Amino acid sequence: MSDDFDYDVVVIGGGPAGYPTAIRAAQNGLKVACIDGWKNRDGSSAFGGTCLNAGCIPSKALLESSELWHRARHEFAVHGIKAGNLSLDLAAMQKRRAAIVRSMTGGIASLLKGAGVAPMFGTGKLLADRVVELTGTDGKVSRLRARHVVLASGSVPTELKSLPFDGKQIIDSWGALELEAVPKRLCVIGAGVIGLELGSVWRRLGAEVVMLEALESLLPMADVQLATEAGKHFRKLGLDIRLGAKVSGAAAGPDGVSVQYTDSKGAQSLLVDTLIVAVGRRPYTHGLLGEGSGVRVDERGFISVDDHCATGVENVWAVGDVVRGPMLAHKGKDEGVAVADRIAGRYAHVNYALIPSVIYTAPEIAWVGQTEAQLQAAHVEFKVGVFPFAASGRARAMESSAGFVKLIAARATDEILGVHIIGPLAGELIAEAVLAMEFRGSAEDLQRTIHAHPTLSEALHEAALAADKRAIDNLNR
Ligand code: FAD
Ligand code: NAD
Repeated sequence: MSDDFDYDVVVIGGGPAGYPTAIRAAQNGLKVACIDGWKNRDGSSAFGGTCLNAGCIPSKALLESSELWHRARHEFAVHGIKAGNLSLDLAAMQKRRAAIVRSMTGGIASLLKGAGVAPMFGTGKLLADRVVELTGTDGKVSRLRARHVVLASGSVPTELKSLPFDGKQIIDSWGALELEAVPKRLCVIGAGVIGLELGSVWRRLGAEVVMLEALESLLPMADVQLATEAGKHFRKLGLDIRLGAKVSGAAAGPDGVSVQYTDSKGAQSLLVDTLIVAVGRRPYTHGLLGEGSGVRVDERGFISVDDHCATGVENVWAVGDVVRGPMLAHKGKDEGVAVADRIAGRYAHVNYALIPSVIYTAPEIAWVGQTEAQLQAAHVEFKVGVFPFAASGRARAMESSAGFVKLIAARATDEILGVHIIGPLAGELIAEAVLAMEFRGSAEDLQRTIHAHPTLSEALHEAALAADKRAIDNLNR
């Protein structure tokens, strides 16, 4: 490193995009600092960003606990287990969630230090010539000169102008993870990924849940067959999903929150105890770009980057939720690691076509690659194999036989083009499909791969066989 610089790399943001960038850059022998400005409600600082503090990890902790509660109440009897009088200790459930978050975020600080990264709490602002102005948590301002700067400032919940968050009755996803009592009547605006996951949590714990979704179809980004099957299970759980609902306003009062919306039948209103607004997230760049930074932000607020996450300003990069592409932790992590390798002069590539999506509901939903509709629109000829979990011995033994695996392969070449799973541990099963597709594998490659019996993974094997009408364990397909 030249003497003109304090650091080879300064990363602004310590979420799942920023901290892996810093660790990989340090592994590449560079001198690295990682600045993070996350503030918990008690005023403490923590690494890990949205994902660890208020997103992926706490939501999965509550999804797991609430699913166990639901299964104990509704499925134990089938297993021959008489559980007696079950009772819910929400405080203990929330304590567990908080403890997981604390230990995971503390772990990131240790990882950074272990890798030789200088961890810094405070806010970073990029000035001209890759000078980063750091305002520490004590208010002290200092300047760091960096050879490279990586912007990883993430995203925040989108607020609807007509119903601003009040932090009590009208809350965002972070508030929805920290409720201290189960609301009797809950409304969720937006039946997207957050709405479905958090709506499931509170429904399982006993809330009446109405979900208002502006679009006319549920999960339009998913394969239609998957979305249709998912809709069936959400309704069975008791989620009252109202499609084509345009929310016009809400007012919080002593009796609850009254929500106004219109649908195909006209003006409607609802009275609920709590309203969760989950209508998407927006990139966060507040206070990030100082005068002369030269970094451009597009009309939707995302930092403009090329295919390699370069901003166009020399040696300034941006990764994660603050740039285009799906707002997913694993996408940000892959981008960050790739940028750190590029900075070190190594080869790196992010395969945007094969980013898996997972929705952690029950049944779980996961997919990678293209849907039938996308392939039809592109005039690609394909074949489809479907295998239901009802025909999987392991799924039956688990009492989790809802759903299926659907595999789509090119008719001409047999290459796997998409895999869509709804069922037990779909998020784990999709990894095999991602790997097969990374290697541009064919349905025949999966057909000829031995899968242990009895495992859920056999369903993917059988779906690959079914694409050629050669399934063994499900002759109907
Ligand atoms: P963030 O995680 O938002 O981190 C950015 C960090 O930068 C923050 O700590 C922020 O405080 C800090 N920062 C911002 N500006 C500055 C500054 N100027 N100076 C210093 N620090 C700054 N994704 C998944 O893949 N799987 C899931 O299961 C999943 N579940 C989710 C559940 C919920 C409820 C939510 C809300 C999100 C979920 N996501 C999930 C999305 C995931 O959390 C985001 O995609 C991911 O956190 C983005 O990572 P990031 O590092 O780009 O940004
Ligand atoms: P989303 O884009 O998944 O869903 C938002 C939903 O709100 C959409 O269906 C949209 O049509 C609807 N909507 C928008 N405006 C509306 C309005 N005025 N009235 C009614 N409905 C409206 O966004 P999200 O669920 O807020 O999640 C944000 C991001 O976090 C997503 O990009 C998601 O990928 C990520 N996330 C991922 C996971 C996961 O990977 N399992 C979990 C949670 C969040």
